[in-house]
Amino acid sequence: MNEELPRDLRPDTLAVHTGIHRSEANEMSEGMFLTQGYAYDSAEQARDAFAGEIDIYMYSRYANPTVTAFEERLAAIEGAESCFATSTGMAAVFVSLASILGQGDRLVASKSLFGSTLQTFANFFDKWGIEIDYVDATDPAAWESALATPAKAVFIESPTNPMQDVLDIPRIADLSHAAGALLIVDNVFATAIGQKPAQLGADAVVYSATKHIDGQGRVLGGAIVGSSEYVDGPVKLMIRNMGATISPFNAWVLLKGLETLSVRVRHQAASALSLAQWLEAHPKVSVARYPLLPSHPQHELAAAQMTLGGTLVTLDLAVGDGVDVAGPEAQAAAFRFMNALRLFTCSNNLGDAKSISTHPATTTHNKMSPEGRAEVGISETTVRLSIGLEDVEDLRADLDQALALV
Ligand SMILES: *Cc1c(COP(=O)(O)O)cnc(C)c1O
Repeated sequence: MNEELPRDLRPDTLAVHTGIHRSEANEMSEGMFLTQGYAYDSAEQARDAFAGEIDIYMYSRYANPTVTAFEERLAAIEGAESCFATSTGMAAVFVSLASILGQGDRLVASKSLFGSTLQTFANFFDKWGIEIDYVDATDPAAWESALATPAKAVFIESPTNPMQDVLDIPRIADLSHAAGALLIVDNVFATAIGQKPAQLGADAVVYSATKHIDGQGRVLGGAIVGSSEYVDGPVKLMIRNMGATISPFNAWVLLKGLETLSVRVRHQAASALSLAQWLEAHPKVSVARYPLLPSHPQHELAAAQMTLGGTLVTLDLAVGDGVDVAGPEAQAAAFRFMNALRLFTCSNNLGDAKSISTHPATTTHNKMSPEGRAEVGISETTVRLSIGLEDVEDLRADLDQALALV
């Protein structure tokens, strides 16, 4: 952080004024340090750096000035002690847990998690002897009973992908701490602007920076934010040595993304709320899920812990009585809708400036069994919409003409 900055600045100000370390050129926009390594002034300095007696840049797998700038800026926005950037969001998810879990340790996780997170747990954590218990995301009694037994870590997402279930972060934090566990929250859907899990009791927050932090669909990246004991301890040790480091180029793109994150996300969230209200009243929509809609099952909780409802709206299309929502006819209706959209591009990214439509059952959640999908509420009629920066009235008109084909 720039030493001369006044204290107690708000996140929108910190987003443009932290992480600035000007070179002798006094550049206005942050420099990009595309360098793998650093020169030592002398053999003695190299010796002292390797001995840990001085803290200087040594090798970009360990640290890089552009990456440091991104980490400082994200930590400031989050109000956290420390941040470590990673090559992707999945690297952040993986390291946030793998750096603290060992054979015989117990991990308690929500059932509703990002597809690759579940794949990582099932294919790797499981075979490494980590005991994993999955909990129904929105069932308070299930969290209570799962966390009546000691655990090392608890991992959740809120809101969840794609069904937008909202988990009670303060309650789960209390239960986690009583069980001796660290609570780690994947905050991608809510964003750092719409929800501050650390202020709600979470110990660490992970991001896929690929989503809203870039916000223009260019680069992959991730970050782990939390206490310096955790981030500068096991997290840093693992990333530095196993190599899930972010490239300085990607870090620079994301650093600049943080400057506009707040205005983008606020605009997108306002459009998402407006479209969700309109969609839930549309005859071709059976359910529109958005955390800040009064019809959302955890609406009060969402209003208490989120300052924005996020940039995604999840729909179930009304395909008609007697049509099996898990069958081919329902899928055909969803595909007709998606293929007719002109402003919503069919893709699986989210948080982009461009609006996106996704069919979870056949893409992001295709590895899940049909029963597993049904359990979390995903059917063939489910379509996830990521609301971009277009004019909301153009988006509404586009959705309206495509819904006519359902
Ligand atoms: C995209 C995403 C990830 C993974 O991020 P990548 O950058 O694609 O590796 C993790 N969690 C959630 C909720 C995501 O949306």
